[in-house]
Amino acid sequence: PPPPSAPTTGKNITNGSTGGHKIKVVCRVRPFLPTEYPDDSVKVESSHVLRVSNYRDPEKDICYNFDSCYGPEADQQTIYDNDVRFLVQNIFHALDTTVFCYGVTGAGKTHTIQGSDDDPGIIPRALQQILDQTRLRQDISYEVTMSYYQIYKEAVFDLLCSSSSTSDCGSAQSSMGLPIREDANRNIFIAGLVEQPIASYSDFAAIYGAACKQRKTASTRLNQHSSRSHAILTINVQWTDSARSKSMRGRLHLIDLAGSEDNRRTDNSGRDRMAESSAINKSLFVLGQVVEALNTGAHRVPYRDSKMTRVLQHSLGGKSVGMMIVNVAPGERFLQDTHNTLNFATKSRDIVNKPVVNEVLDSRWSVAAERLYGGTGQARQAG
Ligand code: ADP
Ligand code: MG
Repeated sequence: PPPPSAPTTGKNITNGSTGGHKIKVVCRVRPFLPTEYPDDSVKVESSHVLRVSNYRDPEKDICYNFDSCYGPEADQQTIYDNDVRFLVQNIFHALDTTVFCYGVTGAGKTHTIQGSDDDPGIIPRALQQILDQTRLRQDISYEVTMSYYQIYKEAVFDLLCSSSSTSDCGSAQSSMGLPIREDANRNIFIAGLVEQPIASYSDFAAIYGAACKQRKTASTRLNQHSSRSHAILTINVQWTDSARSKSMRGRLHLIDLAGSEDNRRTDNSGRDRMAESSAINKSLFVLGQVVEALNTGAHRVPYRDSKMTRVLQHSLGGKSVGMMIVNVAPGERFLQDTHNTLNFATKSRDIVNKPVVNEVLDSRWSVAAERLYGGTGQARQAG
């Protein structure tokens, strides 16, 4: 293999955090819904600080620090332009980037990452940006593909593969789901997953629209709540660097995580629901352990202990640049989950990522790594 070289675009490799390549953590508090009684238990104090009432001691609010903090008035465009646009650009520097939304059911994860036709979220905006960018360079021919799948009860299900599809992926998709494998170069991949070429935005809109419907239909058919599955959309961009005669590739993962609520406090009457919540708890529990291991520099990071963390491996301390959007539902009703969510998120700020430029050589990846270190972020008590 060729000797490792420094990333060619070091200056542009950024996740926006000061002092290193940590996972950037952004907080977004959604507005109160018409059905809710507004209170002021959660307040955005500044563009970096969230103040939350302390149910244990009403005299002492707790303040949490973030790279960015958005209140109910922040719109999709503002969040995208401030915090997502330049991350997406990393794909053209041959880096893997992951954005995931974490929070309780109803906190605004799907609104943030997917959005609606009237108010599009990160996924459609990212596709637009990527496709626009590929048109800027007439001398380079970019190949854009996408995959979209969910992880439910520790099994992987393709969302670009409807039962009416003429391809044979329908039959391959048993209730067991698709297997996650590792190639000789330790790249994680999902065997049999559809990788759909995307030539234009209208291509994307048709495929993505159908997939979102498929996500809903599948949840009805499997008697599942989509809030209990993780939905992962991956965009691949591949091109040839003619100056270096090398095939390059960048990837972007956009992830709508399952609800982070404590399932012990929800009504798990049926057996199936019990199996569901334990699988979800396992994934999020392992995610917490992975975060802990990375923070403390533990020798063993338990990525392999759940499907979700295996898939997220490169976004958490691995090859890619990452960002977590912590979605928060306002109001006293959510306070305990809100503190749990924010404590988890504050841990994630300490992860140091090692961006790696990917070169595809005869379908094998050669890897050039640069280690960069950052500081720490912590919750602090406010008087
Ligand atoms: P989750 O995916 O985390 O369960 P949703 O994205 O489905 O939550 O949001 C729950 C409800 O709140 C939906 O009705 C959604 O439209 C609304 N909502 C979430 N975030 C916002 C926001 N920033 N502005 C307006 N409505 C929002
Ligand atoms: Mg959702």
